[in-house]
Amino acid sequence: MKSTLRCGCEAHTELTVCELAPGLQGLECVSCEGQLLQLDDYRAWRDKTPVPPVAQAIAADEDPIARHCPACARLMQRFRVGAQPDFRVDRCAACQNVWFARGEWQAFVAAGLGSRLDEILTDAWQRQLQTNELRQGREAVLRQRHGAETMDELARIRQWLQAQPGRDELVALLRADW
Ligand SMILES: [Zn+2]
Ligand SMILES: [Zn+2]
Repeated sequence: MKSTLRCGCEAHTELTVCELAPGLQGLECVSCEGQLLQLDDYRAWRDKTPVPPVAQAIAADEDPIARHCPACARLMQRFRVGAQPDFRVDRCAACQNVWFARGEWQAFVAAGLGSRLDEILTDAWQRQLQTNELRQGREAVLRQRHGAETMDELARIRQWLQAQPGRDELVALLRADW
């Protein structure tokens, strides 16, 4: 992958070839340390690397604003990764490439997601993140209202109830005066 592309960061540095993992080349900006990955290269690497190695995560930079594709200058689409540390990667659908800001690729691989980039770039993944977030929001409200101890106890009782063969009757009995 030869490059005459320039980074969208302030330095506008020309991107140079780098190795994101053994056998996986991308382009990087030596100024902001962001990395551009071609999805075709990624898929070829993923398919011949059964279990991508887990790298040591380094603190990732999050770009505050959406970026423009270094190849075609279109606005890239942002996808949340959702795993800890949570961050966003940017993809250009036209060029089929993904931009990782400094440390994001390492954090991505360290989170065990090295083989799952295509999944994260789906609506299903993004929807699931939203669903989880809504549920966490509801739980936070309930914990505030009833106290963490009460909610933990309730969760324990619910889990126990769900394991009971006669749970419907038991729930009815709870509400009734028997
Ligand atoms: Zn840069
Ligand atoms: Zn593009």
